[in-house]
Amino acid sequence: DGDDLLKDEESEYENELLENINKEQERLLDIQQGRKSLPVYQYRSQLLQAIKDHQVLIVVGETGSGKTTQLPQYLVEDGYTKNGTLQIAVTQPRRVAATSVAARVADEMGVVLGKEVGYSIRFEDKTTPNTTILKYMTDGMLLREFLSDPELKNYSCIMIDEAHERTLATDILLGLLKDILLHRKDLKLIISSATMNASKFSKFFYDCPIFNVPGRRFPVDIHYTVQPEANYLHAAITTIFQIHTTQPLPGDILVFLTGQEEIESTKERIEEIAHKLGSRVPEMLVTPIYANLPQEQQQKIFEKTPEGCRKIVLATNIAETSLTINGIKYVVDPGFVKENSYVPTTGMTQLLTVACSKASVDQRAGRAGRVGPGKCFRLFTKWSYYHELEATPKPEIIRTNISSIVLLLLSLGITDLINFPLLDKPSIPSLSKSLEILYVLGALNSKGSITRLGRLMCQFPCEPEFAKVIYTAAYNETANGVLEQCITIVSMLHETTSLFVGNSRDSLKSIVGETTSDHLLYLKIYDEWKNSNYSKMWCKDHKVQFKTLSRVRDIRNQLWKFCDKMGLVSMNEKALKELVDPTQSMEIKIIKCFISGFPMNIAKLGTSGYKTVSTKNSSGLEVTIHPSSVVFQQQKENAKKPSKYILYQQLMLTTKEFARVCMPIIKESWLSEMVPQIFKPNNEFN
Ligand code: ADP
Ligand code: MG
Repeated sequence: DGDDLLKDEESEYENELLENINKEQERLLDIQQGRKSLPVYQYRSQLLQAIKDHQVLIVVGETGSGKTTQLPQYLVEDGYTKNGTLQIAVTQPRRVAATSVAARVADEMGVVLGKEVGYSIRFEDKTTPNTTILKYMTDGMLLREFLSDPELKNYSCIMIDEAHERTLATDILLGLLKDILLHRKDLKLIISSATMNASKFSKFFYDCPIFNVPGRRFPVDIHYTVQPEANYLHAAITTIFQIHTTQPLPGDILVFLTGQEEIESTKERIEEIAHKLGSRVPEMLVTPIYANLPQEQQQKIFEKTPEGCRKIVLATNIAETSLTINGIKYVVDPGFVKENSYVPTTGMTQLLTVACSKASVDQRAGRAGRVGPGKCFRLFTKWSYYHELEATPKPEIIRTNISSIVLLLLSLGITDLINFPLLDKPSIPSLSKSLEILYVLGALNSKGSITRLGRLMCQFPCEPEFAKVIYTAAYNETANGVLEQCITIVSMLHETTSLFVGNSRDSLKSIVGETTSDHLLYLKIYDEWKNSNYSKMWCKDHKVQFKTLSRVRDIRNQLWKFCDKMGLVSMNEKALKELVDPTQSMEIKIIKCFISGFPMNIAKLGTSGYKTVSTKNSSGLEVTIHPSSVVFQQQKENAKKPSKYILYQQLMLTTKEFARVCMPIIKESWLSEMVPQIFKPNNEFN
C-alpha cells in the first residue's frame, strides 16, 4: 500500500510539473504574441532600414508603443552585436526603469537577467563581461564609461531613451556623443523620446531624421476641479474613492504623487478607509512605485489585477513615460512634481514641490487611454492649466549643481566649457559657482586645472563632495584613520529617506543616547546592526527597514572595494598604526572630514537663528534645524547651548527653510584648518 501511495504522489508531482511547463510555454507564447501586437512591430523593417541609412535617428512614439523594450531587441536580431562581440547600450534617466525594463526584456528573450541582457545602475552592476550584449543602464553610468573608454569602443549602438526628460546626464551624453560620432562612423545613435521636443534634438544633430511611430490612443475625458484644492492629498484620496464607488470594474487607477513619503502615507490612509468600508465596496489593491522601492515590489505593479478587484497604483512621475502599466483607465493628477532647484548665488540645492508643465500633465492624462477610453481627473482648475502651467519642464542642467559634470568634462580633457555643445547651456553664474566649489574641494588648482585629487574624485562612484569626505578620512594628517566610519556614514546618507519604519524614532532611543549628530546616529545604527550579525530581528525591534540597511551594506562594500583599489584603505591603516595624536577622538575627525567635503553647507548661529555662511559670491540664508534632527532634539531636551556652527546635508523648503541631517561643529578653528580657501583663520565668518 505504501508503494502505491508513493506512486500516486510521484505521478501527482509529474502532473504538476507538466502543468507548470505547459503554463510557462503558454506564457512565453503570450509574450511573443504581445510583442507582435505593439505599435513599433509594424515598423520593424522600416526602423531598421532608417537606422542602417543614418548614423543618428530620433524615434518618437506614444508611451507603451514598444520603443524601450522592442527596438534594442530588433537591433540584436539585425546583427548589430556582431555575434556577441559588441554591445548595445540603452540609457534611462531612472534606476527603476533600467532594472525593470531589463528584467522584462530578459524574460521576452528567454534569457537569465544579468547574462545576455543586464543592467548597470550606480552601486549595482548586473552584467557579465563577454556575455552581456544588451545593457540597460542609467544615463549617469554611461557617462562614467567615458572615463575608461572615451570612444565607447565596446558599443555598436547607443540608445538614449526618454531623452525628453532632459536630465543633466542625458544632456551631457548627447554633447559627448556628438563629438565621437565624427570619428566613429560605425556607431549608431538612437534618441528616443515621448512626443515632445523632437525637433530640438534633430536640430542639435544636424537635422537628422525623425521617425514617428504612430501610437494607438483612445480618447481621454479630462475633468478639472472648479476651485483650486487646498490639500491635494486629501482631494486625491476623495477622488480615488469616488471613482472606486461609482465606476464599473475592471479599470485601474493611476495616481501621480511626488515622492516616497507621500506615497506611503497615502497608501496607509487608503487602506484604512477601505478597511472601514469593508465589503460594501469592491476590493482595492494599493501598489506603490517609486525610485527606491525594492525590486521584488516593483514587479507588483505589472501583475494582473485579480477579478472583482481594483488596482490603485500610487506613482511618482516615473509612471509618466518610463513605465507602462496595463489596465489603467483612470488617472488622478494633482499636477505636482518634486524637483531639484539650485541657486548658484547661494550655492544651495533645494528639493521643491512645483507645478508640472503642460507637457507633463498631458502625458499623465494619456496613461488613461491605452486600453480603451479613459478619464483623467486633474486636481487643479482649467484656468490654471491654460494660464499658469509652463509649456515644458525645465531641463535639469539649468536647475542643478553642475560641479560633478564640470569635473568629469575637465578630466576628459574638455576645457572649453563655454563652447561644449549642449541643447541648453547652464548660466555663467552656475558655471563659475561650480568651478569655485571644485577649487574649494581641491579638485582644481588656482589656475583652474584639474589636480590629482580631482582625477581621483572623478572616479569615485559618488558626488565629489562625498569623495572628498572619504579622501580626507584616509589622507588628511589631522583627520585620518576614520575611513571605515566615514564610508559607513556616506553609504547611509545615500539611503536616508527610507530608513525608518513609520515616523517614529522612539524605538531608537537606546541607540540615540548621547549621540550628538545625525551622522553619528547613522553610524551607530549601522554598527549595531552589524554587531547583530545583520539580523532582520534587530531591524524589526528598532523599527528600521531591513531592506534599506541591506542596500547600505551593498553600497558600503562597493565603496570599500573602490577605496582599497585606490590605495585609501592602506593609507588609513597606516594612519591608524601611527596615530600621532590619540587625543583627537574619532568624532572630531569625522566632523573634520565632513567640513572638508561640504564647506558650502555650513550655517552660523546669529541673533535670529542659523544663517548659512556666505562666501565671496554668495549671500546667507536663514535656516532652521529640522525637528527630526538629533541636533534639534539635543538642543531642546538637554537645553544644550546651541553650537555656533552646524553643518547640514540638505535643505528643504516647506513652511520654513529646514536644514536636514545636521552635525554641530564644536570648534571654530576646524573650519579654517580644513578649508583655508574660504575660512581665514581668526576671522569671523558671516
Ligand atoms: P515605450 O518605451 O514605447 O514606452 P515599452 O517598450 O516600455 O514602450 O513597453 C511596451 C509594452 O511592454 C508595454 O505596453 C507594456 O505593456 C509591456 N511591458 C513593459 N514592461 C513590462 C513589464 N515589466 N511587465 C509586463 N509588461 C511590460
Ligand atoms: Mg520607454
